[in-house]
Amino acid sequence: MDTIIGIDLGTTNSGVCVIRDGKPVMLPDEDGQTILPSFVGFDNQGQLLVGQSARNQAILAPERTVRSIKRRMGEDTKVSMGDDTFTPQEISAMILRTLKDRATRVLGEEVGKAVITVPAFFNEMQREATRQAGELAGLEVVRIINEPTAAALVYQPDTDCGERLLVYDLGGGTFDVSIVQIEGGVVEVLSSHGDTRLGGDDFDELLLKHVCDQFQETHGLDLRQLPAARSRLLQAVEEAKKVLSFEPCASVNEEFIAEKDGGALHLTCEILRQDYETMIEPLLKKTIKCVDDALEDAKLHAKDIDKIVLVGGSSRTPLVHHLLEEQLRQTPHQEVDPDLCVAMGAAVQGGLIAGLDVGSVLVDITPHTLGIQCRSLLHGLPSVFCFAPIIGRNTPLPATRSEMFSTCVDGQKVAEINVFQGENDDVRRNQPVGDFLLEGLDESAEAGNEILVRFELNLDGILIVTAVERISGLERQLTIDNAISQFRQSGQEDAQAKLDGIFGPERQPSPARETDLDEVPAEVKQAVKEAIHLITKAHQVLPEADPEDVAELEALIEQMEDSITRRALEKIRETRAKLEDIVFYLQDA
Ligand code: AMP
Repeated sequence: MDTIIGIDLGTTNSGVCVIRDGKPVMLPDEDGQTILPSFVGFDNQGQLLVGQSARNQAILAPERTVRSIKRRMGEDTKVSMGDDTFTPQEISAMILRTLKDRATRVLGEEVGKAVITVPAFFNEMQREATRQAGELAGLEVVRIINEPTAAALVYQPDTDCGERLLVYDLGGGTFDVSIVQIEGGVVEVLSSHGDTRLGGDDFDELLLKHVCDQFQETHGLDLRQLPAARSRLLQAVEEAKKVLSFEPCASVNEEFIAEKDGGALHLTCEILRQDYETMIEPLLKKTIKCVDDALEDAKLHAKDIDKIVLVGGSSRTPLVHHLLEEQLRQTPHQEVDPDLCVAMGAAVQGGLIAGLDVGSVLVDITPHTLGIQCRSLLHGLPSVFCFAPIIGRNTPLPATRSEMFSTCVDGQKVAEINVFQGENDDVRRNQPVGDFLLEGLDESAEAGNEILVRFELNLDGILIVTAVERISGLERQLTIDNAISQFRQSGQEDAQAKLDGIFGPERQPSPARETDLDEVPAEVKQAVKEAIHLITKAHQVLPEADPEDVAELEALIEQMEDSITRRALEKIRETRAKLEDIVFYLQDA
């Protein structure tokens, strides 16, 4: 039987995949790289370059390099490359030929048939141009399929069971969102929206501006005007951007980036994820608007979507997950590498055409969110029971993620790291999996002393939690064996049942919400209102309190919240007396 390869011919990157033993397997180049940058060029000797080598010379030799040719597919035009001109089909054929040769080399057999993917919005001319490019590369294009269809096939190769998927594809230069219906062996794109000029490249440009503006302010030199420096920096900020998907901060360090008055200048810049997110949020909000439009066109609501599937390298950005979750009220799926998902789906389609039995692409993921307890706002009020997620559910394993936290009071000597697993904003509704103390913090530090907490979860379910005080480098670590199976055994249900016993059946706990008080006697209602007021005051005095008072205050706040939750009038009164004493004492101090 002839092998049918699947090819993702992307604007920024391309890839080739094949079904082996019922599973899609990406085919690597000689260096083990599965992704081929969609760049074509001639070097200064006139040798053809395709992929990373062409990409490397793109900024310094733009006249000899072609990028993003996919945008020109279907146009009756020619692009110049070196001393020659080429049609978009011819340039695309060079990328396809490289992937075909790769497949032939890896598989050890001549490969002649392919399924190639195109965006859902491609018209007939663009599809025909893609088919021609395949033929020029020596491939029989057995089918052209839509990229969101390919992504859906990876998550749902069994097309007989009905599902509706929302495929959110954010790449380097383009964004599109599609709603795909799978039913009775048919995969149909119900609606599609997007922006062909929005992607990770725009995020790089924003970061570049941020870094260059800072440098210009210090050194009076605009690095954007120096092509070599710009090219280096663009790569450096892209790397920093990728780091920010997993770490709360990243640094850009480029030595000898420029010269001034005969002396070398170095660039050092630290970027916080928070600042980066502020930069890109307006762009991401545009993508969410497209999601709304796609739903409206398909005449569907968020609740009608069974799965959100993430595609494209930029969909790894945590703010993307956050905004989608906020908008659609479900966790997006990212089990399959978003860079490879489309090529894998093309291979699944090729396998189905060839009559192969294609199973689902099972990968190990975290079944629940892992995070720590912290003080923040819970249901709108300050609380010490907030859950701060670090590794989100559905994250493929192994996974490493870090988040930054801050101490609450001046001179804080100890930070307690309590690790939980679950999906509730309130840690008391999640499952504790371990805890430890980071002792010996710098006593001269004010409140806001930064502590980096890193979670490393491996395929065996071993979780390594590391806490580091940033200014001193003080570090403590905890290893939790079988963090995942521990939880599976005891189960979310057990945790829920246990807590329902305390809180009452699932109704968000919100112990301190006055609106929940409609059905309780007036006396309790009044006591709860006063207690809430007192808790707010207690939080106000906390930052000024001595460490011993902090401990006592926190314990009393916890007791009070618990009593409020249980509407235990006597206990509320008892705790109130104690809490009032300490709050008034600290207010007067
Ligand atoms: P694609 O067009 O799907 O190949 O996506 C390429 C884009 O994804 C480029 O802008 C990359 O910088 C971006 N990208 C790749 N990995 C990450 C990551 N970990 N976090 C954020 N963006 C990424």
